[in-house]
Amino acid sequence: MPDLFPLCPECSSEHAYELGALLACPMCGHEWSRDAEEPTADVTHVVKDAVGNVLADGDTVVVTTSIKVKGSPSGIKAGTKVRGIRLIDPVNGHDIDCKVDGFGAMLLKSSVVKKA
Ligand SMILES: [Zn+2]
Repeated sequence: MPDLFPLCPECSSEHAYELGALLACPMCGHEWSRDAEEPTADVTHVVKDAVGNVLADGDTVVVTTSIKVKGSPSGIKAGTKVRGIRLIDPVNGHDIDCKVDGFGAMLLKSSVVKKA
């Protein structure tokens, strides 16, 4: 059986059925709106690079300014290419999760990169 309907939020019955715009549970009589259950997926965080290009997961970017890295004498130099970025919910202003050659996994700010 495909899992078409969510469980009843009242009694966890799996016998909910569609009743117009609502879902209804024959076990306890509870009725609810499926829309309210779903998170608003349209409100996504748009991440833009230093010049306003919209970035996406998997993009290759170029670092536009030197970045100091703890434990590294040189840090990341401007012009360093970073492949396969992943956008994340901002952590202290850092909204890109990536791996930098020679440095490993780290977080970057979208304001210091440019889409390659
Ligand atoms: Zn129920």
